[in-house]
Amino acid sequence: MAEFNIIQQYFNFEQNASESIVKAIGDDCAILDIPKNKQLVTSVDTLVTGVHFYADVSPQDLAYKALAVNVSDLLAMGAQPLAYTLAITLPENDKLWLDAFSKSLKETSEQFSINLVGGDTTQGPLSISIQVFGLVKKHKAILRSGAQIGDDIWITGTLGSAKIALDINHKQDRNEFESSLWNRLVRPEIPYHFARKKFFKFASAAIDISDGLHADLSHILEQSQLGAEIMVEALPLDEALIEVAGIDKARQLALSGGDDYQLCFTANESFRNTIHQHANKTNTRVTRVGKMVASKYSLKVLLNKEAYEMNQASWQHFSTNE
Ligand code: ADP
Ligand code: MG
Repeated sequence: MAEFNIIQQYFNFEQNASESIVKAIGDDCAILDIPKNKQLVTSVDTLVTGVHFYADVSPQDLAYKALAVNVSDLLAMGAQPLAYTLAITLPENDKLWLDAFSKSLKETSEQFSINLVGGDTTQGPLSISIQVFGLVKKHKAILRSGAQIGDDIWITGTLGSAKIALDINHKQDRNEFESSLWNRLVRPEIPYHFARKKFFKFASAAIDISDGLHADLSHILEQSQLGAEIMVEALPLDEALIEVAGIDKARQLALSGGDDYQLCFTANESFRNTIHQHANKTNTRVTRVGKMVASKYSLKVLLNKEAYEMNQASWQHFSTNE
């Protein structure tokens, strides 16, 4: 089957119409209409076999994750998902694989109200690049630089579980805890309903946690030119993670593990009730884990008010000290 047929059969699926999408798949470019009072935000993420996922990952999980981790970047800006393009490199024309990938991609697109509007299809080692586009009200995007002294630091969902799943990867029989942790790696849930609306009204800064809380919160500190204090005892952890790893390792993983794709955001204290109400309404777990302070770039990690030592480095590509 030629490239053109693959595109037609697997990527030109039916989608809900959107006012802002003037032209989707089929021409040389897609055309997006940006409403006058809005701005377009965009980001791209690539997933490569052997680096971001195991070669034997299911096509369903891969399609979900490739799109979810990109939508997560839009959420962290307070943006509404609008459209995405998909550049996919396939080792072969495997009908069963493509069928499963395409079905899951369509479902995931519907779940996050985002339309596939174009892409590129090539042959080679499996790799998937998705570029997302979203809309924000003009000048209302949530930036990493927006945190203020005294702001609370919040986390959605729980942390650390995706990272431990890497350890249990090829274990033959997983118990129920291990299975649920495994799911957190291959099907990370993102706080879509929580972040899609209203979020920009209370969040002063936000980031999605892909490299671990410590590393990602540090980006907010750098750009907001502030410091932070984190209370380790408050970090939201899965029961299954505590069961499998023990509380201390669980906390270490919550600080330095990555791949969670939950949001870390800051907000003025006066929004505490608003945030809890919004979280309830959208069925989202939120936890207040610390405070922004004046001391520039210092990230104090405290357990019951005493300094807490972190013993794991965060994941970084091209890092020399791995
Ligand atoms: P061109 O040669 O002009 O780049 P292509 O043959 O690569 O065109 O693509 C034809 C159309 O199909 C374009 O609209 C392109 O955006 C779309 N397309 C190609 N690959 C994909 C894909 N994997 N997913 C979605 N759309 C795709
Ligand atoms: Mg092309």
